[in-house]
Amino acid sequence: MPDTFTDEQRQFLQLLGMPVPGDPPPEMVQAKPMVEAPTILPNRPVSAQAQPASASRPSARRDVGSATAALLPTEVAPTPPVRSPPPPLKAEALQAPVLATQTSTPSADPQRITRIATLDWRDLNNMVSTCQACPLGETRKHAVFGAGNPRGSWLFVGEAPGAEEDRRGEAFVGRAGQLLDNMLRAMGFSREQDVYIANILKCRPPNNRDPLGPEVQACMPYLQRQIALLQPRVIVALGRFAAQGLLQVDTPLSQLRGTTQHYQGTPLIVTYHPAYLLRNPIDKRKVWEDLKRALAVLRQ
Ligand code: SF4
Repeated sequence: MPDTFTDEQRQFLQLLGMPVPGDPPPEMVQAKPMVEAPTILPNRPVSAQAQPASASRPSARRDVGSATAALLPTEVAPTPPVRSPPPPLKAEALQAPVLATQTSTPSADPQRITRIATLDWRDLNNMVSTCQACPLGETRKHAVFGAGNPRGSWLFVGEAPGAEEDRRGEAFVGRAGQLLDNMLRAMGFSREQDVYIANILKCRPPNNRDPLGPEVQACMPYLQRQIALLQPRVIVALGRFAAQGLLQVDTPLSQLRGTTQHYQGTPLIVTYHPAYLLRNPIDKRKVWEDLKRALAVLRQ
C-alpha cells in the first residue's frame, strides 16, 4: 500500500471499513461520497414490460452528500420517455457462457431459451421463483431474483446467493451485501434509488461452492433477459464468475480489471466480489479504482 493517501482515497478506505495507516480506527459509514458525483443520473427509462410492482420511483430525494444531492433531480420525472427495447436475443446468443461443458441438457432447450427472452419482468420473476432447470432448484430455500431499483442506471452482477440470501430470498443481504451497500454509499448511490443487483445464478450452490458450468448455462438466460429489460447504462461485474459469464470469456479477473469491457454494447466494468473483499480487505483500494472507472464511463 502507498505510504500516503489522498483525502479521497482515505475516505473511500474508511467507508469500506479498511484502516488507513496513521489514522484512528475508521467509522464504517456516515461520510460523504468518495468522489465527485457523476453528472445527472436520471432514472433511465425502461420498457413498459420492465416495470415490476416494486419498480416505482422513490418519491423523495435520498439523504446523500450535498454534492450528489445537488445533482439529483428535485422531482421524479412523471413520464419518462420509453426507450425502444432491444430485439429479443437469439437463442444462440443466450447459450451458456463460461464453463459450459454441456449443450444437450433440458435447460439448453432452444424453445425454453426463446421463451425466456420474451417474458416481461413479472413473468420472468415468476418463472425464476419456481425454476427447476438445474439441480440447485432442489437444494435452495428461495430463488433470488434480484434487488434494487429496476429503473436505476447501474446494474451490479454478482455470482450467486449466499446462505442469508437463500434464507430470505433477497439479494446481497449478508455481510457481502453490507459491504456492497458501503461501496454504493461511497459512490453517492443507494440500491433503492440508483442500482439494480442481480446474480449469475438465482439459486444458492450448496456450501457456497463455485457455480458449475451446466448451472450457469441453465440460469444465464434469466440474467440476459433481465439485462434486456433493465437496459442499464453501465454494468459492474462483481467477481470472476460474473465477469466471465457475461463476457463469455475465460480471461482471468486480473486481466479484465482496469479495462472497459462491453456486454452487447453496454459498458461493463469488472471488479472484485464483496465476499472476496471480506477475505482480502487489502484489495478494497483496487475496487476504488474500478468504481472510479465506472463513474467515468457513465459520465461519458
Ligand atoms: S439456479 Fe437458475 S436455472 Fe438453476 S434452478 Fe435456480 S433459477 Fe433455475
